[in-house]
Amino acid sequence: MTLTPNALCFGDGLPGAGAPCHVVLSADGLRLIPPEGSPLVEESIAFSALSVAAGGLDHDHLVLSWTSGTLPRTLYLKDPALIVAFRRTAPPELTDSLERAAEHVRRARHNHRWLWGSAAGMVVGLGLLIWFGSDLIVDWAVARIPIEWEQKLGEAVYQDALSKDTVLKEGAAVGAVLEMTQRLTDKIPHNPYKFQVSVVQSPVVNAFALPGGYVVVYTGLMKKAESGEEVAGVLSHELNHVLQRHGLERMVKMLGLAAVVSIVVGDQQGLIGLAKELGLNLVTLKFGREQETEADVTGIRLLSDARIAPDGMIGFFERLSEKDKARVELFSTHPMSAARADRLKAELAALPKRSPEPFTFDWKTVQESLAKAEPGK
Ligand SMILES: [Zn+2]
Repeated sequence: MTLTPNALCFGDGLPGAGAPCHVVLSADGLRLIPPEGSPLVEESIAFSALSVAAGGLDHDHLVLSWTSGTLPRTLYLKDPALIVAFRRTAPPELTDSLERAAEHVRRARHNHRWLWGSAAGMVVGLGLLIWFGSDLIVDWAVARIPIEWEQKLGEAVYQDALSKDTVLKEGAAVGAVLEMTQRLTDKIPHNPYKFQVSVVQSPVVNAFALPGGYVVVYTGLMKKAESGEEVAGVLSHELNHVLQRHGLERMVKMLGLAAVVSIVVGDQQGLIGLAKELGLNLVTLKFGREQETEADVTGIRLLSDARIAPDGMIGFFERLSEKDKARVELFSTHPMSAARADRLKAELAALPKRSPEPFTFDWKTVQESLAKAEPGK
C-alpha cells in the first residue's frame, strides 16, 4: 500500500526541494514512512527527541527538527488536520514551544492585516488626492486611456446627443465647415484623431467637442458670425479641447478613483457605464479655466499655422459677449472675460506674422443658404 505523502523532509543527502514522506502519529512519537525509492529511511522519532517551531511563508506550517543518527533532519507539516493531531498528542514538554509557535502565527496574521490595512489606506489616500484635484494623477490615468476607448465613448455620446437633431448633410454651410476642418487638421502634427464635424440646424449659438474627435457646430453660431474666420476660430478652439484630451481629464476628475481603477484594470465598459450611471453629460461639461486658456492658446496657434486670420476668433468672442451675452449658450461653458481677451491678444501679438489665405467659399452665400434652410429665424 502506498501512503499519500503529508509532509516534506529536509536535510543532508535529501533533495533541495525536500523529500516527500508520510507521517503517522502514535502515543510516544511519530513514524516517518518514505515512499518507495526515497533516499529517506523509515524511522520512529520519540517526542522527546523533537523540537518544534512555526514555519512556512504564512507561518502556518509546523517545523519539527531532530537528529537522525548523526544527520540533522527537518520535517515540514502543512496539513492542518495533521498539525491539530500533533498538538493533541504531543506531551506537555513540547507544549511550550508549540504555544510559542502559535503565538508566532497570530503575530504574523496580525502583521498581514496591518499590511493589507496600509494598502487599503494608500488606495483611499489616492482617492482623496483625486478628489482634492491632484491633476498629476488625473493626467497619469488619462494618459492610459487608449484612443479607441475614447472614440467609442465619444461616438456613443455623439449619437445620443444628435438623435433628436437635424444634422445637415450637404449645402454651403456643410461645405464651409468641412473646408475649415480640413485646413486646420492638415496642420496638426501626429494627429491620432479622425475628426468628425457636424453642422446641426438649431438657433442655439454654440459649438462643442466630445472625446475622440466628435465636434458639433450649430447653425445659430454660424448665423452670428461675420466671416468664415470667426467660425474657424471657434472650431480651432474646440479641436484643441479634443487634442489636449480635456473632456477625458474632466471626466476622470469627476468620476474619481473608480474611473482610475477601471482604466488601470482595462475595463472599458466599466468606465463608460460609470459615466452613464453618474449622469455625466459630456455635452454640457464645463471645462476648467486652465483648460480654456490652453485651448485658446493652442487654438490661435493652429489658426496661424493653417494661415487662417487668427484675429477672427477674438473679434467673434468679444462681439458676442458685448451684444448678446445672455442668449449665447457658448458663454455658459466659455465665459468671456477681459482677462481671457487680453491673454488671446497677447498670444496673437507673439505669433509670427503670416499672411492669411482666404477660404474658397463666400461667407455671404453660406449665410444666405442658412437663412433659406431656416426662414424667419
Ligand atoms: Zn472651450
